[in-house]
Amino acid sequence: MPDGRIRVGNVEVIGLTDASLDFPLPLSALFPGVPAPAWDPFRQRYPDIFPSPDSAHFHFGCYLIRSEGQTILVDTGIGNATTNPGIQGMMRVDGRLPAELLSLAVRPSDIDTVFFTHLHIDHVGWNLSQHGPNAKATFPSARHVMHRADWEFFQQPAQQEAAKYWDETLGPLESLGLVDLLDDEKALTSEVTAVPYPGHTPGHMVLSIASQGEHALVIGDAAIHPAQITELNWGVIFESDQAMAATSRHLLFSRAEHDDATLVACHFPGKGFGKLIRVEGRRYWESLDI
Ligand SMILES: [Zn+2]
Ligand SMILES: [Zn+2]
Repeated sequence: MPDGRIRVGNVEVIGLTDASLDFPLPLSALFPGVPAPAWDPFRQRYPDIFPSPDSAHFHFGCYLIRSEGQTILVDTGIGNATTNPGIQGMMRVDGRLPAELLSLAVRPSDIDTVFFTHLHIDHVGWNLSQHGPNAKATFPSARHVMHRADWEFFQQPAQQEAAKYWDETLGPLESLGLVDLLDDEKALTSEVTAVPYPGHTPGHMVLSIASQGEHALVIGDAAIHPAQITELNWGVIFESDQAMAATSRHLLFSRAEHDDATLVACHFPGKGFGKLIRVEGRRYWESLDI
């Protein structure tokens, strides 16, 4: 019976679905550099995530990681109209992360660390339970850990003009004293390490999990569609530096293959758990039935 979790040695990784929806932008707008016929092999391989020939079904996943007595939440999803009003112009759907945590009997105060792969609007949605002058963190006991480059990048006016969400999701965490900024690779426990793989955003990070000889990589948005496992140069419009993002995919998936790592991908089908496989010399994504 699939229960949406994996074990990596002594580490437990539980998939949490904040939302699952047909993305409002067509694939041709998300990946403007990719000619329409180039999607054909992926439509055949992954029919469930093509609701129409030019669209994609995306999962918006967060993950709960248990390692050495620490409880780490990876990303906080899209939120709802109160916690992240900026998202409502795009998605028009309320996330269900709090209900997912409740179903696991995890209280908000049980979270020791909230780790952000990056600070896009769909990864920070449940940060605050109340905003304004009396802002409250949803996870009040947690250090909120992210890369400094994203913290600085997303405060720039040009970024916030595109989708205003800083004051409703991130800014107040600083005045509440809950923010830890990383400048480089950092071990969260001896089994779980944050590693920069920039390009999707300047401070995009991956979580590398290694325990008892087993490996997993929580890849954030290094790839948002399984086709990017095969086609490393397929850039998505949201990437701040497409060449750097392609280099990061090359390095990341070479590492995944070398270590036989399970991949954990926020926007991929199901709960986003899968492996790399080789077919006629090319790498492809294969979902794990979890
Ligand atoms: Zn993103
Ligand atoms: Zn995303």
